[in-house]
Amino acid sequence: MEERPHSLLLGMILAGYIIGARHGVLYIRGEYPESIRAQRAAIAEIRQAGYIGDNILGSGFSFDFKIIEAQGAYICGEETALLSSIEGQRPEVRVRPPYPTQQGLFNQPTVVNNVETLASVPFVLQHGGAAYAAIGRGRSTGTKLVCLDGHFNQPGLYEVDMGTPLATVVHQLGGGFRHPVKAMHIGGPLGGLVPVHKIDALTVDFESFAQNGFLLGHASVVCIPESYPLIQYIEHLFEFTAHESCGKCFPCRIGSTRGAEMLHKAQTSDYRIDRTLFDDLVETLEIGSLCALGGGLPLPVKNALMYFEGELKPYFT
Ligand code: SF4
Repeated sequence: MEERPHSLLLGMILAGYIIGARHGVLYIRGEYPESIRAQRAAIAEIRQAGYIGDNILGSGFSFDFKIIEAQGAYICGEETALLSSIEGQRPEVRVRPPYPTQQGLFNQPTVVNNVETLASVPFVLQHGGAAYAAIGRGRSTGTKLVCLDGHFNQPGLYEVDMGTPLATVVHQLGGGFRHPVKAMHIGGPLGGLVPVHKIDALTVDFESFAQNGFLLGHASVVCIPESYPLIQYIEHLFEFTAHESCGKCFPCRIGSTRGAEMLHKAQTSDYRIDRTLFDDLVETLEIGSLCALGGGLPLPVKNALMYFEGELKPYFT
């Protein structure tokens, strides 16, 4: 959005042309002022060139953009909460069906896509679908943006072909770890927790991560140093979910808070967590939550319990 803003805008114009939409809405968190500035400047440029507005270049097609500066709620990344937020309502998740393509923004059919998808559209149009599909591996075609945190020697944002070995990302692009690291949290707060001994088993694509019990998600990588207690990390995940929960369904609204309480108590008193009770809580979150926030929390928690059983054992009965 900041370095190649026109790719996203062109992808949106093309999507609008194909589905017959006149408006494209960019929903950008207010914490990313650079993205907002870059997109505003790019929109002004293409308006000047006559590529947006009424009857673009005499084609009979009209299209324009609106930027919403959103106020930092994680749940607004969920498509129906995002739509409610644009409408000025509480950003609560909606029950589907109806899906946004049937009944979306202000009850009109709406396509919601992420930036990476839309920004790829111009390449597909220019080079053809076959050329795009030739990049990648299996059903994961094209490229993926990977974001490496400050525990890498060379942190930053990299674009790699789908199917690139994770080891290449970690050791060549990232230049290895700055400090000893025991696990990487890949794919966002609700992505999988990948222990470092699994690096060589994974390639950056959806299938490889799913087959190994992880989730590629948006492929950001947050490292957990050797010195950082896993129990504290899991507690943080529950707290994060409790803080960001929209409150619509009770497994997430109540379960995230109960989980955080149990994990906190186990670290600050003689209390030991009943493993059966904890597994029940995690299962309830997994199968009973309405959206991927409550439903996604169990994955990193289960990864942690599986790969770091020895470290976590003292906190459970
Ligand atoms: S899982 Fe959480 S965020 Fe999602 S609908 Fe339920 S309460 Fe809201």
